[in-house]
Amino acid sequence: MALQLTNRSKVVSNKEQSFSEKLYLPAIVKGMAITFSHLFKKAPTIRYPDETRPMAPVYRGQHVLKLDENGAERCTSCGMCAVACPAEAITMESGERKKGEEHLYREDKYATKYEINMLRCIFCGLCEDACPKEAIFLTDRKVESDFERGDFVYGKDKLVEKVNERVDISKRQTPEVLAFKKIPGLKHNELFDGKKLKDKH
Ligand code: SF4
Ligand code: SF4
Repeated sequence: MALQLTNRSKVVSNKEQSFSEKLYLPAIVKGMAITFSHLFKKAPTIRYPDETRPMAPVYRGQHVLKLDENGAERCTSCGMCAVACPAEAITMESGERKKGEEHLYREDKYATKYEINMLRCIFCGLCEDACPKEAIFLTDRKVESDFERGDFVYGKDKLVEKVNERVDISKRQTPEVLAFKKIPGLKHNELFDGKKLKDKH
């Protein structure tokens, strides 16, 4: 007995076509009727970029590298985001903060180079989850189209927010996440204090 994989098999007919079928007229009329019926329906297409669809509040778009409240870069170039990234889209180089650069970089180590290849990125948000310093967030901004592949490799010039043009990510964090961040010793966003953490346990 022949193995049947699905029940979608169809018996092919070798029946002779009738005269009207040979003219293809009924099929053409039927096809045109379907085409004309669409003239009176609302078009499902969106004329982007003049029109845009409503986006989810947690839509994951272009990343931002955040500055702290004093305007210093939060990223300490630990590499956790790059390790977590399933698309291997993140690369960075580290440097040591020099005396007098405290207003630029929050911690002793910082990223001298930080790049995300937006063509590789699948906007999963794992880099954001992995970051212990609340330095990287995905935002609701769209990555703009371009002509050259190389232009999709975004460096710090495009990723780090400007002191006077902060990127608001507060609405993207659920109450549960915000509550978690308030747990002493576990909360991100603090300079590491080993003694404080030890005292808590
Ligand atoms: S959103 Fe996902 S794929 Fe994109 S850089 Fe972050 S971890 Fe990688
Ligand atoms: S963005 Fe966060 S996880 Fe990535 S290197 Fe900087 S501090 Fe580490």
